[in-house]
Amino acid sequence: MPENYLNPKVYIKETANKGRGLFAKEKINKGETIENTTDIQILPKSELAKMPKIWRSLCYEINDHEEICPKDINNPPAGFLINHSCEPNVGSSLNFFETVAMRDIEPGEELMYDYAMTDSGNYEMKCECGTKSCRHFIRGSDWQRSELQEKYKGYFQKNIQDKIDKKNLEK
Ligand SMILES: [Zn+2]
Repeated sequence: MPENYLNPKVYIKETANKGRGLFAKEKINKGETIENTTDIQILPKSELAKMPKIWRSLCYEINDHEEICPKDINNPPAGFLINHSCEPNVGSSLNFFETVAMRDIEPGEELMYDYAMTDSGNYEMKCECGTKSCRHFIRGSDWQRSELQEKYKGYFQKNIQDKIDKKNLEK
């Protein structure tokens, strides 16, 4: 797969209230790769905490101490522009930098994932996704919710899946 692969059926568009987002141009089938980002840098969370807010809004967790950020913050690859929904249609593959379709996606739909699948840090954000399953607040501890573990099975990022596996072993 080429560097920074973006599925040709996907395009970037300005949304009404969430900045840029990814949308389907044509029907995307369940299991298709959406994007695969290699143009990244890994930064310690301690360093990120001192960066302007734009960094923290684009970067996502790789483990408890580090985050994945675009190599060029002013020109982030598409994978960094995917917005959150409590009823997502894309998720992670076990490859950290790859996003896949969790179900068939119709033309015009926005591609969205649930931050619970990638981020376990200490954060709380208001969610206004408006879906039936909206949690209203999304938190770094959401991956611990059993209903989400069931719903996103196979689509958590590896660091989160490792945490879930470890917790289950302790039971
Ligand atoms: Zn929501």
